[in-house]
Amino acid sequence: MSVLFRSSNRASAARVSRTARLIWTGLIWTGLTWTVLAWSSPSQAQRSYRVRQGDSLHRIAARFNTTVRDLLAENNLRSTTIRPGSRLRIPRRGRGGRRSNIHVVRKGETLSRVAARYRTTIGRLKRSNRLKSNHIWVSQRLRIPGRENPIRVRRAPLTEPQETARDFAKSLGLGSVKTAHWLLSKPPKPEWIAAARVPPDTRDDATSIAKKPEGSLSVVSPAEHEPPPAPTPGTFQLPLQIGHMLRGWGSGAGGYHLAVDIYAPPGTPVHASETGIVAYSGHGVSGYGWFVMLVHPSGHVTAYAHNRQNLVVAGERVERGQVIAKLGNTGLSAGPHLHFMLIFDGRHCDPAPLFRPKLRQKNGDAVKVDRAVWEAEAGKPPVRCLARSARPHPHRAALARQKARREKARRRRARARRQKR
Ligand SMILES: [Zn+2]
Repeated sequence: MSVLFRSSNRASAARVSRTARLIWTGLIWTGLTWTVLAWSSPSQAQRSYRVRQGDSLHRIAARFNTTVRDLLAENNLRSTTIRPGSRLRIPRRGRGGRRSNIHVVRKGETLSRVAARYRTTIGRLKRSNRLKSNHIWVSQRLRIPGRENPIRVRRAPLTEPQETARDFAKSLGLGSVKTAHWLLSKPPKPEWIAAARVPPDTRDDATSIAKKPEGSLSVVSPAEHEPPPAPTPGTFQLPLQIGHMLRGWGSGAGGYHLAVDIYAPPGTPVHASETGIVAYSGHGVSGYGWFVMLVHPSGHVTAYAHNRQNLVVAGERVERGQVIAKLGNTGLSAGPHLHFMLIFDGRHCDPAPLFRPKLRQKNGDAVKVDRAVWEAEAGKPPVRCLARSARPHPHRAALARQKARREKARRRRARARRQKR
């Protein structure tokens, strides 16, 4: 095109260059439109990418706003080693896409752009990610407030015994979202504990459908943990036979995390920690994704959050060690893990000292805690327990503080007005 500009006739040169510019602009616009269309078109969701020299999975993940874990899963890769020239499938986002509550920062993006993209505010983004400044960096993972991982409903039709269990649950006031909220903050009703106590064979209806513990369901064969020991009363079976602790009870800002997070690959069987009755099984409790709550004869409640799939229904009786769910990443969760809660008298307790076998750290060592047993007649819990309200979530705590400040300012103004009069 530069040849055109070397023309001796200035007027014609100007005309030609204007035409060239128009054509050029037109081309760019067409290109852009195609790019935008390609990017937003749902049929394009299944993108692929040819690996180039010097690429890493990390970089590719950042580039396509996905994660290394999702890339590995999508391409059935066992390691992060990739060869130049090979093709990678890029996991689709949106339609049931995992992790759409997480945004991976791309080059040139600012906090305000990310906020605009997800129709939220900088303030909310900063609170959700506990950011002290507006500074963000490439491939940083930002949690998008108010956006949960879409929950894929994969429910097999209920079997007849499950239908019966469901009816039984209803007759007791079990199984609803209200029940779940009740158990998160209040002691179980006596009739619920009584129902958890009734051995399956003496119940007059067909609610005893407890299956044999399915230890072989695991997708990962080598067991990192020794098989669960014979149940000791007053202890809880470790709900996963593989995996390691991510974070413990009382961790996080202000110690708000009154639960234990255990990592294991998605799909890993989740086992009931103790014999009991399913009090809730669903995805109606905000933040927890697919969620199971069990009431035990001792009055304890155990809860299992972020499951990929629940395998039990409310009203069913389960045995210690029975598989009740598959581990997942549903709800407000930044990666596959089990969020396990032990609740007694409406207070959230540290289960680690009660787990049999002990929880393990990533390096395979047992977590350093003194083993404890919760005696039936114990006056005081043998482990740390706190009401949920004692350690509010930092996000909620910030909102509460803000509300208190506003309220104080309002009262001050009211007082000032009264004094003026
Ligand atoms: Zn957790």
